[in-house]
This record gives sequence, C-alpha cells and structure tokens, in this order.
Amino acid sequence: MQYLQGLTEEQQMIVTTVRDIAKNEIAPRAEAIDREGEYPWDIVNIFREAGILALPIPEEYGGAGASELTCCLVIEEVAKVCGNSGHCLCDNWLGMEPILLGGGEAVKKKYLSQLAANKIAAFCLTETEAGSDISGIQTKAVLKGDNYIINGQKIFITNGGNADVLSVFARTSADRNRGMSVFVMEKGTPGFSIGKKEEQLGMRGTPAYELIFEDCSIPGENIIGQEGEGFKTAMKVFDRSRPFDAVLGVGIAAGALQYAIDYAKERKQFGRAIADFQGLQWMMADMAIQLEAARQLVYKAAVMVDEEDPDKTMFSSMANCFATDVGVKVTNDAMQILGGYGYIKDHPLEQKMRDARLLQIVEGTNQIQRVIVARRLLES
Ligand SMILES: Cc1cc2nc3c(=O)[nH]c(=O)nc-3n(C[C@H](O)[C@H](O)[C@H](O)COP(=O)(O)OP(=O)(O)OC[C@H]3O[C@@H](n4cnc5c(N)ncnc54)[C@H](O)[C@@H]3O)c2cc1C
Repeated sequence: MQYLQGLTEEQQMIVTTVRDIAKNEIAPRAEAIDREGEYPWDIVNIFREAGILALPIPEEYGGAGASELTCCLVIEEVAKVCGNSGHCLCDNWLGMEPILLGGGEAVKKKYLSQLAANKIAAFCLTETEAGSDISGIQTKAVLKGDNYIINGQKIFITNGGNADVLSVFARTSADRNRGMSVFVMEKGTPGFSIGKKEEQLGMRGTPAYELIFEDCSIPGENIIGQEGEGFKTAMKVFDRSRPFDAVLGVGIAAGALQYAIDYAKERKQFGRAIADFQGLQWMMADMAIQLEAARQLVYKAAVMVDEEDPDKTMFSSMANCFATDVGVKVTNDAMQILGGYGYIKDHPLEQKMRDARLLQIVEGTNQIQRVIVARRLLES
C-alpha cells in the first residue's frame, strides 16, 4: 500500500513504470544478487536502458534533471523488491553528487556527461582513522606543476571496485576542515589500486572496497571546486544523499511488511490463519504506522532539499535516522511474523533485515544523525 496524493502526474507515472520494472525484471534477481555477492551489472543495465541511472543529472549534461523527491520515489519502488538494487542507485548517485554540487563547469561537462551515458561513480571519503570524524582524513593531494599527486588509502568504499569515476577526498593543507579538498579520479589512473573486498552482512551485491593511492597523478583541473572546499561539498552531498538512504530503508521495510501480511493470511495454526490473531494484527498495524511516518518524513526532507529550505540539513538527518531505524524494526518484526521460516533463506526476510541494517551505519551513523539534529536544536 502506498498513497500517492500530492505527487505530480509525472511522478505518479514514473512510480508506476518503475514498479513494473521492479516486479518483472528486478525481483526475480534479488535472492541471487545476495547469494553471489557480486555487483549486479545486469540490473545496472536495466537502469541504464530505462533512463533511471542518470535521473539526478541535469538535462544539459544528458540526464533527466529529476528532483530529490522523484529520485526518492524511484529508490523506494526498487528497494521494495531488492535492497541491493536500490543501493546501486543510491551509491552511484552519492559518487556523482560532489561533481554535481561542487564542480566547476568544465568538470561537470566532462564527467556528468560520461556518468549520464553509462559510467558508475563512487564516493571515497572514509579512512581507517576517519569514519564519523571525516575531518580526520590523512590522504594527501599535493600540487606539483599542473598535476595533483594523491597518496593515501580509503576503506569501506561502495562501488570502489567497479566505479569508472571516483570522487576522492584528500587533504591539501593541515587545517582540519578547510584543508579538505575533493577530486575526480578515473579508474585506471597509474598508482590507483583496489584492495580488499569486504565480506558484508547485508547489501552483499554492493560490496565495499579498500582503495590505495600511490603517487596518483591527476590533472589540476580535476579538482572539484576550489582547494579547501571538500568539507563544504561533503556536507552539501549528505543533505541530498541522506534522504536516499532513508527511503531505501522505507522501501525495504515496505517490501518486508507486504511479504509478512501475505504470509500471515496463508499460514494456519490452531486451525486459523495466523493473521486472525490480534497479537499479530497489532504488530502489523504498528509496522504500517511506523512505515508511513518514516515515508512522510523522508518525502518532507526531500521536498525541503528541492526547495533549498534552510532546515534541510536537520530534516535530512531526522529522516535518515528515523527511517533507517524503522527499516530495521519493521524487517525484524516481519521475520517474527514468519516464525522459524523467517530465519530461513527460503524466504527473503532475513536478507531484508541484513540489508536494512547497513543503513543505520552509512552516511553518518544514526548517532551522528542525532548529533546533527541536537546541534540545530541547541543553536536556536
Ligand atoms: C558496507 C559499507 C559501505 C560503506 N560505503 C562507504 C562509501 O561508499 N564511501 C565512504 O566514504 N564511506 C563508506 N562507508 C563508511 C561509513 O560511512 C562509516 O563506516 C561510518 O560513517 C562510520 O564510521 P566508522 O565505521 O569509522 O565508525 P566510528 O566513527 O569509529 O564510530 C564507532 C561508533 O562510535 C559512534 N560515534 C562516533 N562519533 C560519535 C559522536 N560524536 N557521538 C556519538 N557517537 C559517536 C558511532 O555512532 C559508532 O557507533 C561504508 C561502510 C560500510 C560498512
């Protein structure tokens, strides 16, 4: 169930189209993507052909120029049937956002058009000593002649092993925040290598990688914006990407709830469908209430991002925190409704719970989202 009031006709049409693609082409692959633990290029091709991959890229660079809300609606439909496929979209868009939000015209023209055509992006920020505290990054970029020379290491980079275009954060001076810059690097740059592929609990089709930069020389014009603007760009990116992760949680939870409802109507115990038991009815009602509250908060945050509302940062964090907590709660409850079968891989609920769990950690843990909300409350 999903209420589409308030959406434009175009948005409703996109939702219907993506729902069909999700049901017919993506859902049949969901279990295998998790089992194989490989990046699902076939799904990426489906996204390409449907024009979904380039949705947030402005039209002048070959994309659709879709709003934040429209992108969220698309992720939600995909995530209802496959968290990994939704994550493919989110993290590709996350990787291109620094270029989109912080890049000068030349960088945008060159790389956004490539990304709109067929390339994949990665967002490379986290390091061993810099997770929640992003200003602690140690990867360095030093200008030598016309080129920047990049040295350092990143960890946990989704798409790191398969991206063509990487947005790489590196230090250009010692100042914690103002010393951060961000650069575009292409796959195949000498000195750039892919390290360990992580074995993940969930979102196994979108694995994270260690990345190593050893004297990687990139043209000076590959800086995104100006030196020292990396921190500011990262913050702008998170405003836009946090609702994406949030709606991924909503989509996964919605898929889990529907599965549990269908199961409860069929499964009989004590001579009755288990859906007849009030204990489970109240559980399902609570799941639906939490889910709808999360969905509405995410849509609100997305609209605030589209409207450049001054409180968009706080709402993006609120939505991210609430919706990803709901994602874990609802998928866990859905497993419970299936009893022992929920724990078994023959049903998709244990996978949905594992996939949802990552979302409480990435793009700022849910503790960090609360720090951001509290900081905004206390400053006014
Ligand atoms: C599968 C996966 C994919 C990822 N993909 C990417 C990616 O594509 N690109 C990228 O750059 N990064 C990526 N990450 C990294 C992710 O964003 C970080 O793991 C996350 O931000 C947390 O950092 P950390 O792991 O170093 O934890 P830490 O920062 O060490 O946190 C440890 C604990 O301390 C808590 N904590 C820290 N600071 C505070 C505070 N001020 N107040 C209260 N509690 C606090 C945290 O909430 C957490 O519970 C990925 C991670 C994973 C696991």
